Amino acid sequence: MEPPLTEEQELYRKAVREFLTKTVEPRSREIFGRRKIPVELWKSLADFGLTGLLLPAEYGGSNSDFPSFLIAVEELSRADRSGFLTVCVLLSNTEGLIVAEHGREELKEALLPSIAKGKAVLGLASTEPGCGTDFTAVRTRIRKEGGEYVVTGEKQCISLVAEARELGGGHLVTGKTSPELGPRGMGLIYVPIAERGVESSELDTLGPSLGRIRYEEVRVPLHHLVGEENRGVYLIQEGFVITRVAVAMSLVGPTLRLLEEGAEYLKQRSSFGRPLAKFQGVQFQLAEHRARVDAVRLLTYRAGEMVEGLRRGGGNPSRVALAASEAKLLASVDCLKAVTDATMWYGAMGLTTELDAHLALRSVLGSCIAEGTVEAQKIAIGRLLLGREFSSVRGGT
Ligand SMILES: Cc1cc2nc3c(=O)[nH]c(=O)nc-3n(C[C@H](O)[C@H](O)[C@H](O)COP(=O)(O)OP(=O)(O)OC[C@H]3O[C@@H](n4cnc5c(N)ncnc54)[C@H](O)[C@@H]3O)c2cc1C
Repeated sequence: MEPPLTEEQELYRKAVREFLTKTVEPRSREIFGRRKIPVELWKSLADFGLTGLLLPAEYGGSNSDFPSFLIAVEELSRADRSGFLTVCVLLSNTEGLIVAEHGREELKEALLPSIAKGKAVLGLASTEPGCGTDFTAVRTRIRKEGGEYVVTGEKQCISLVAEARELGGGHLVTGKTSPELGPRGMGLIYVPIAERGVESSELDTLGPSLGRIRYEEVRVPLHHLVGEENRGVYLIQEGFVITRVAVAMSLVGPTLRLLEEGAEYLKQRSSFGRPLAKFQGVQFQLAEHRARVDAVRLLTYRAGEMVEGLRRGGGNPSRVALAASEAKLLASVDCLKAVTDATMWYGAMGLTTELDAHLALRSVLGSCIAEGTVEAQKIAIGRLLLGREFSSVRGGT
């Protein structure tokens, strides 16, 4: 079952797949093993246009439509078994888009062409030791002082920490601009990882790389603030909508690939004198997982079309937010079940690093949590369906 994409978009898929098969596919296990993206590989992704897909042409980007971006995410997440490159391309594009749409001209000129050229990556630093789902409870402080902003706080479980150090760039940091206003008193500000007062370290994880960042009285120019003081919460939520659709697609890529490879394995491996593929128990698992993940894929492309409609000035933001959270919710639930069962098809060997099943499991597990857990999506969907006055929580998600 194929999503309703144009001929041009399908041609783009073919070109991306060919490129990734030559460049990323052969190196993805090495990237997982070394937990590091080779600089020259990142540069070749940039030369192919993947790092600046969503960015406007005047800043060196491709100004691509959102469904084409999803095609790139799907193909990259299939080829990149490590998941490292996928996270980097995905976040640099979606956070870059927030800067393109709400940043000051000086910041756009300084940052966006570097992302498009592969000389910087851009992540979001929201989660803290004390809060994740409830993202408006952050304690990081952004205050204006002497013609600059000063950022102080601690972030945890943040993507693109090692990558920003290696490839350049930094994060859009969330913090309180007016703590007395509660959840509404938030801002979003760009802080390069190399800035004085920034200390970072890596966390040892099961999945894609994560890190901690400590901001100690870090001074950045006023034009690094994205949007306005005390309006950050709206920008963060806007970013969640587009990033959630992209993360949903990054769950689909490795899952479909593992289901395809697993089906081949079921034909080859025998038990009780018959290929595993002949047992109805595993056939039914394959059938159900494939049907569900195909449906999630269609739902995610549909959400992508709605994001595109919004970008071009049409559509209802609440309906798009609903579609994004629905896609992320179902992708998390169905892809995790599918990769868990498909890993089991390989028996004990599925758990070893000799086979690739564990790589899909690791990256799917990570993406289920990133950009909001299953519960976070349910809270968001409940609020959108029932109305803000019936929200089960104040702030977050
Ligand atoms: C691979 C990966 C990449 C990530 N990248 C980034 C990044 O780049 N930037 C960033 O800022 N963060 C990032 N994160 C962090 C991620 O956004 C948070 O882990 C996530 O939002 C959950 O926050 P938490 O870990 O603090 O869990 P908590 O918020 O403490 O939640 C713990 C558990 O309680 C549940 N829960 C919480 N509140 C409720 C409720 N009201 N009702 C029911 N259940 C609830 C949650 O669903 C979860 O299962 C990443 C995480 C992963 C795994």
